[in-house]
This record gives sequence, structure tokens and C-alpha cells, in this order.
Amino acid sequence: MYQPGMKSNLLGLNQEEVLKLVESIGEKLFRAKQLYHEIYRRSELDFLQMTELSKAFRQRLAEEFRLTLPEVARRSAAQDGTVKYLFRLEDNRFVESVFIPEEDRDTLCISSQVGCNIGCRFCMTAQMGLERNLKVEEILGQVFTVAKERNLQRGSFSVVFMGMGEPLQNYKNVMKAFRLMTDPLGMSMSHRKVTISTSGVVPVLRKMHHEEIFPNIAISLNATSNTLRDELMPLNKKWNLEALMQACREFPIEPRRRIMFEYVMLAGVNDSDEDAEAMLRLFRGLRPKVNLIPYNPNPGLPYRRPSEERIARFRDILVNEGVTVFMRKTRGDDIAAACGQLAYMEEGASAGA
Ligand code: SAH
Ligand code: SF4
Repeated sequence: MYQPGMKSNLLGLNQEEVLKLVESIGEKLFRAKQLYHEIYRRSELDFLQMTELSKAFRQRLAEEFRLTLPEVARRSAAQDGTVKYLFRLEDNRFVESVFIPEEDRDTLCISSQVGCNIGCRFCMTAQMGLERNLKVEEILGQVFTVAKERNLQRGSFSVVFMGMGEPLQNYKNVMKAFRLMTDPLGMSMSHRKVTISTSGVVPVLRKMHHEEIFPNIAISLNATSNTLRDELMPLNKKWNLEALMQACREFPIEPRRRIMFEYVMLAGVNDSDEDAEAMLRLFRGLRPKVNLIPYNPNPGLPYRRPSEERIARFRDILVNEGVTVFMRKTRGDDIAAACGQLAYMEEGASAGA
């Protein structure tokens, strides 16, 4: 828990910053590399156990700094093996992450903000509004904690920014965390194993075009006309479908990678044959993948999940035109851990549960 005058947390510092820190305390510079290696490659967060470092240096670090993770306030395990983590941050706010075990690989769904201010009508996180951005150490802290607890091996799991928050509204911290996750000298995850999902913050998406390396991109499309998208996702009034699709067409993705379009299926709202056909028109000039997400109902919201036949028919229209469509099984149903159900409003009561 946060106390004024607390030592500063070194988790979240990049190589350059570790170097500066080591320099500022008058240590030899090669120590910086060792310290960075201990933290990010060996996941060693106890200074005194950092065997690469000299004893004196370890002690000095332990006296002046800390390396701490957000506290796990609660774990809820679903019958299918999905585990939802509730993290208590130092200012007593909460965020959630979801660990989803799968046969071929595991996925960790993490949050980028406490709440979200994009205001999508169907999403529970939207009900919280935005409380604040997560810091780099809080983003990485989710990964460190779950990887450690579940003994996940490097390279064996993917990270998706599909928890609470709009990652592109916290771009600086999200990208710094991404660079740390993928640094070959540190956590060394493949950039192909990290996905950022966005509701379509077009100027930031365009800014990302210029990054040296970038994660997989998933776009939450959810409607195929501006009229409906304006209603479901108010940010569409600012950056409409044309602007969004143009930014996607111009995205400099590697030849074998594709942009993923997520589409939350809402019965009677966006699930007609015409919607599927309109989606195909939007995709002109792109080689997309589509993730159809049957709506996960939230209490108090007026939306319903379409029937399986309706979803299958919608999928077939896309598949028949050569679009790759994924339809993940809904996971963690019994613990409200699925997409759009994460919202923690007050201690003792999860709004999504
Ligand atoms: N803010 C980002 C990432 C978090 S939301 C974004 O919107 O992309 C992750 C995904 O969950 C988005 O595709 C969103 O459209 C979807 N989603 C939100 N509420 C949902 C619900 N109740 N059921 C199913 N998917 C939902
Ligand atoms: Fe925010 Fe994504 Fe939820 Fe929209 S769907 S309110 S962008 S978290």
C-alpha cells in the first residue's frame, strides 16, 4: 500500500533509465546491465537475491529502492480454467486481468487504464468512466504476477490489451511496457505475441505507423455504418469509419501479419446479413481477420447475444468471400471474466459479477 515517502519502484524502468540510475548513485556502469538482466530476464524482484550483483550493490539497492508488484486482492477461477485477477493498486484503485489457458498457448488479457472514457454502450468498463491511466509498472506488474504465479515460460503465452481501458489513450505507458516486454535483452517476448485492441483512436493509430516495432493490432469495429457506430461507440463521431479504415489500410504491417477486426455481435442491432455484406465492403483494400465475439450480457444493459444460427450465418457470409473468421469460445462465463465485463466499482462488489 502506498505510503508517502515510499522508496521509488524500479519496475518499469528501461535500459537507459537503469543506466542513469546506476550512474547517479556512483556505481560502475556495467552494473546497469546486470541489474536490468536480473529484473527483466530473471524476473528477480528481491534485490538481495540478485546473485549477479555484488553484495554491497544489492544492499544499497534494497535500502534505497523497491521492486514491487500490485497486490492480488482476489483471484476467481472459472470451471474452464480461466482465472480473473483483481489487483489493488497503491492508491486503492482496482484493475482486473484475465488468464485464459488454451491447449496450444495461454493468453493473458491485461488492463491499460482504471476504467475507460470511450463510452461504448455495451461495455461494462464504460460504466466506470475513466479514473486514471495505468503506470508502466502497473501494466508490467499484471504480466509479472500472473507469469510468476502460473509458472509461465517465456514465449509460451500471449498478452492482449483487451482488459479495462483504451490502450491508445494511454499510449506512452502502453508502448513503453510493450518495448520492455519485447526487449531481447529483457523479457524478450515476440512482438507477434502482444496484441493491442483499440476502439479506433485514429490519430494515435496513425502515430503508431511510425514505431520501429509494433504489436498486433485489433480494431473494435462493432458496426458497419456510421449511424450505428456513432450510437454504440461515441468516439466514431470524432473518427468515423472512413477515417478508421483508411488508417488501417495505411498501417505498415508486415507482409504475413493482418489487422484483426473485432465485432461484438448484438442481437437485432448489428447481426443481419446486410451488416455482414457492409463489412465486406468496408474491407476493400485490406486483408483482414475477423473475430466475432458473441455479446457477453451485462446487467442493466439492453443488449442480447444473437442465436447460434444467426452468428453462424453471419460468419458464413464473411467466410464465403475469403475472410478468415475466428470465433473464440466464450471463456470465464461463470466469473464474468469475458470481454467487456471487467469493471470494478467499489470494494466488495464487482459490477460485472
Ligand atoms: N478498449 C479496447 C480494449 C478493451 S475492450 C477496445 O475497445 O478495443 C476489448 C473488446 O471487448 C473490444 O473489442 C470490445 O468491443 C469488446 N467488448 C466490450 N464489451 C463487450 C461485451 N459486453 N461482450 C463482448 N465483447 C465486448
Ligand atoms: Fe472502453 Fe473498449 Fe469498453 Fe469501449 S469497449 S468502453 S473502448 S474498454
